[in-house]
Amino acid sequence: MKIQTFILCCMAAFIVNCQSNQKETIAETPPIEVKDTIPVHVPKFDYDTTKWLDLADLDPTIVMDLRYATANNFVEEKMYECGRCFMRPKAARKLVETHKALQEQGFALKMYDCYRPRPVQQKLWDKVPNPNYVARPWKGSEHNKGVAVDLTIVDKDGKELDMGTPYDFFGKEAHQTYTKFDNPEVVKNRQLLRRTLRKYGFKHIRTEWWHYSYKGKVVSRAISDMLWNCEN
Ligand SMILES: [Zn+2]
Repeated sequence: MKIQTFILCCMAAFIVNCQSNQKETIAETPPIEVKDTIPVHVPKFDYDTTKWLDLADLDPTIVMDLRYATANNFVEEKMYECGRCFMRPKAARKLVETHKALQEQGFALKMYDCYRPRPVQQKLWDKVPNPNYVARPWKGSEHNKGVAVDLTIVDKDGKELDMGTPYDFFGKEAHQTYTKFDNPEVVKNRQLLRRTLRKYGFKHIRTEWWHYSYKGKVVSRAISDMLWNCEN
């Protein structure tokens, strides 16, 4: 036998030996247990995050008191199937920054209303067809565009700061310029809300201390019909 042939035979014998060893190793491995349920990937977000963000997903420490998801509102009727606080992404992120700035001072934001779908605006209008209280659905409000919020400030115990009137109080006492309150803290509390929100790009309106809208650039300012999922 030539030396080359001998080497080839040895290599072939080695490979066959290795393969047989592998077979033995596989045979010794216990069978993989097949479980009844296969884990399903559940996405964290059930909406298009390029178009909307839910504030509760961004920061669960923001207090939610979404009044139109209950009968505790000025129309005394539940207007949303469930309460969720959506905003256009940039506006939502800026609101979280506002909340964090307040947290550093021992406070937190509490949300009364956020994005309001046009069909809900129509329902509100059908109930109260008065432009002094409800925006015309065909014209829309900043809430219908996903850039406006109704909100207040709570302290570390979750107690609302005194803002002089309840939410959705329609009268001069709710105006930003009204100052004749018995409690001198009211003006300071409103100033804290206004000053902090302004810093992060939100503007107020004259007649409602609780209403602010984001004035920066967002993905869209169109009036929206998006209805959120209540299944989760
Ligand atoms: Zn509002």
